Amino acid sequence: MKKQKQSESRKQRRSEGKSVPINGGAPGPKTIRLEKRNAYICPKCKRISLIVYIDEGVTPMYLMCTHGICEGMAISFMHALPPCLLMNPDIKPTHEWYRPGKIERGMLKPGELEHVDKGGLMLRERTSSEPVILTVQTRGQ
Ligand SMILES: [Zn+2]
Repeated sequence: MKKQKQSESRKQRRSEGKSVPINGGAPGPKTIRLEKRNAYICPKCKRISLIVYIDEGVTPMYLMCTHGICEGMAISFMHALPPCLLMNPDIKPTHEWYRPGKIERGMLKPGELEHVDKGGLMLRERTSSEPVILTVQTRGQ
């Protein structure tokens, strides 16, 4: 008996259509979880390299353009990314910043090893590694 009533009211609600509150339904502050990302823009080919962090560490201001044979020097967005590059799940980083393990450290060039010893990260194509997650508190309405 009780069960029947519930399914009736559910049906009724569906027929009214789903309303979407324009404030996102949250009157108060909200916590958003974001991948830690940065991007670099290449002055030569005008393309963007979107990079995710899988470890915390130091990264350079300039980066050799990641787009094919361009060889331009891309410059960092300094973590001031537009929301579409930061939050859009359809825009995926192509590369990742990572801290090399013991074995890989043994294979690094002296300059690279010095960079890593100072807390620097290395760049590689995106793997399935878990990204560093930042939590951002919104101010609410
Ligand atoms: Zn380029």
